[in-house]
Amino acid sequence: MKFTDPHRKAVYSEPAPIKRSHENPFEAMVERFDIAAKILELDEGFYEYLVTPARVHITAIPVVMDSGKIKMFEGYRVIHSDILGPSKGGIRYAPDVNLDEVKALASWMTWKCAIVDVPFGGAKGGVICNPREMSGVELERLTRRYAANLADVFGPDKDIPAPDMNTNEQIMAWILDTYSMSVKRTEPAVVTGKPIALGGSQGRREATGRGVMTVTLAAMERLNMQVAGSTVAVQGFGNVGSVAADLLTQQGCKVVAVSDISGGYYNENGLDIQAMITYSAEHGNSLEGYPDAEPITNEELLALDVDVLAPCAKEDQITSQNAHTIKARIISEGANGPTSPGGDRILAEKGALVIPDILANAGGVTVSYFEWVQDRQGYFWTKDRVERRLDRMMRKAFDDVYDKAEQHDVTMRIGAYVLAIKKVADALKLRGIYA
Ligand code: NAD
Repeated sequence: MKFTDPHRKAVYSEPAPIKRSHENPFEAMVERFDIAAKILELDEGFYEYLVTPARVHITAIPVVMDSGKIKMFEGYRVIHSDILGPSKGGIRYAPDVNLDEVKALASWMTWKCAIVDVPFGGAKGGVICNPREMSGVELERLTRRYAANLADVFGPDKDIPAPDMNTNEQIMAWILDTYSMSVKRTEPAVVTGKPIALGGSQGRREATGRGVMTVTLAAMERLNMQVAGSTVAVQGFGNVGSVAADLLTQQGCKVVAVSDISGGYYNENGLDIQAMITYSAEHGNSLEGYPDAEPITNEELLALDVDVLAPCAKEDQITSQNAHTIKARIISEGANGPTSPGGDRILAEKGALVIPDILANAGGVTVSYFEWVQDRQGYFWTKDRVERRLDRMMRKAFDDVYDKAEQHDVTMRIGAYVLAIKKVADALKLRGIYA
């Protein structure tokens, strides 16, 4: 059980960061990148190339609101890398989205795709807006103008958006339509995560949660832990968390706690996840008032004495402030960036096995890749075929990362970065620098 061995803190005690301070998500990515780059003895020029986003688009989006007034919004699309193929990544709508966050998420997409051997680069988009305060018509106008402004950036061979926070299959359908109007042909492969009726894939909705389940079981196997009856806490009960909780329950785990924005829900005998999914769907995607559980706080959920903790809500949940309270042996990061570098250091010292986000939640982009392949072939797979291929790729990715971490005696997060950066750097070396 090498991963529970506390001597693993070795790499974290190095004065790792080469040149930047770490106050935002992009800098947090760079901190991990730096450690991996040192292990790989990455050439300084390659370092600069791979850490720098290839293109950053900032676009002004005028929208005629329902009041008749024009309101300006700001949108971003960051292409971090297209070395391995067209860039891929979601679009998030949020009032506090910012360029550094989008840059960090874009680079995570590059590493994520490399880890699961998907031939895509990384990108991410964002629009500063509050979708909760906008009507459906306003959202459609915003989406269509954002897509029209970026029509030259997007394309099935260039850059392929997908849903992320506060965007969904309807928004992908509007982007598909706007792009198709611009190129004068219907082009389903320009987005993924779209409705099945427009060329979406079976199994896409469940893909990320399913991947979380697969890597969690793989970790338990490596640590010789019993799956049946093992206890699990899941933070976040949305697309990722609810599916992960459901599938882990089907595998025999006992999910004792889940949470959403309304708070945490605990039952030491195991929660009825199916009943909670139904309850949440019937109550506006909220578990507020769910009767068959004891209410707990988000902090209490994170600190539960469970075998597996799956943070599947949002970034920066496990930090230097609370990581010392965490007791779970496996932390399976369904969310993007749930653990800060400071939190990482403490978890490594405690000997917890963290399955890093760029591996644990890569199931989503893997099935997005399947969706793109199906669209381009005009031939669609059964759900069973999607799931079998997803399980195989996630399992292989887990084993690759685990072995890489063992090889260098580092955490799985650093192992994942080492694996991903090496793949992209090797491809860059072969391509060379165009002059
Ligand atoms: P979602 O909006 O469907 O669900 C988010 C859930 O987290 C909701 O239940 C919400 O109530 C809950 N939540 C929000 N703040 C919380 C808090 N402070 N405490 C507890 N719960 C809280 O989003 P999602 O698609 O499930 O994505 C969740 C995370 O996974 C995000 O970080 C996202 O970037 C990442 N991710 C998603 C996918 C995907 O395919 N959906 C793929 C890769 C990564």
